[in-house]
Amino acid sequence: MKIIDTHTHLNAEQLYNDRQEVIERAKQNGVVKVINNGDTFDSFQVIGKLAEEYPSFCYSAIGLFPGMGTSEVNQDISRVKNIIQNTKNVVAIGEIGLDYYWEKDAQKREEQRVLFKKQIALASELHLPIIVHSRDADADTLNILLNSDFDENIILHCYSGSFQMANRYLNHNKKVYFGIGGVLTFKNARRLVEVVQRVDSKHFVLETDAPFLSPVPYRGTRNEPAYIVKTLEKLAELLNRNKDDLADEIYERSLRIYNIHE
Ligand SMILES: [Zn+2]
Repeated sequence: MKIIDTHTHLNAEQLYNDRQEVIERAKQNGVVKVINNGDTFDSFQVIGKLAEEYPSFCYSAIGLFPGMGTSEVNQDISRVKNIIQNTKNVVAIGEIGLDYYWEKDAQKREEQRVLFKKQIALASELHLPIIVHSRDADADTLNILLNSDFDENIILHCYSGSFQMANRYLNHNKKVYFGIGGVLTFKNARRLVEVVQRVDSKHFVLETDAPFLSPVPYRGTRNEPAYIVKTLEKLAELLNRNKDDLADEIYERSLRIYNIHE
């Protein structure tokens, strides 16, 4: 059984300091690769170092999280581009998107949309998939993605939208994938359970978002890639599938989505 944690943050302080043990436990649980997702300029450097240190295990997604740009957006974009071209194992632009939960100001939200659109355009130019963060902003995220001519893979990280919304994405663009994380194991995950049971499972990838969003029974404690098996087990149960077969199927799909060659 092989697993890729397609969205994690080993660069985060909570995980970076004992990364050796964290990676060891991940491997013991079948995790053979992770994709570390960037958010700020500072994070890109650590993500690059991880890819140098663990070249067949750590892959990099480079992108500015909503609100993490400066007032010079064009300058930010060329800086991001430059970093992508000089960082090891870059497989995506992410995590990018919209976060209206943390940002209530209308002007600032508009700036988030501008930064998001420009990073989508950069991904188009570089032919890279995008990893999308959307919180309390589903309508605008959908509008921006469906109204762009972006033609690479789109991964909706920690998907929290409805089944109907998932369908709107899929009707429009078949290159959309849903990141399924620890939330699936939560008692109140009714909406996500519906998505998992009704959307074609060939659009699913697994993720942890570690150090955040630990699956049950670790909910509330620091998350790490090893715990992804709890989400896999839940997904297999809901889909009535053999866990190992499902893992291998998702693994092969993830390699294709991110164009990773072993
Ligand atoms: Zn994340």
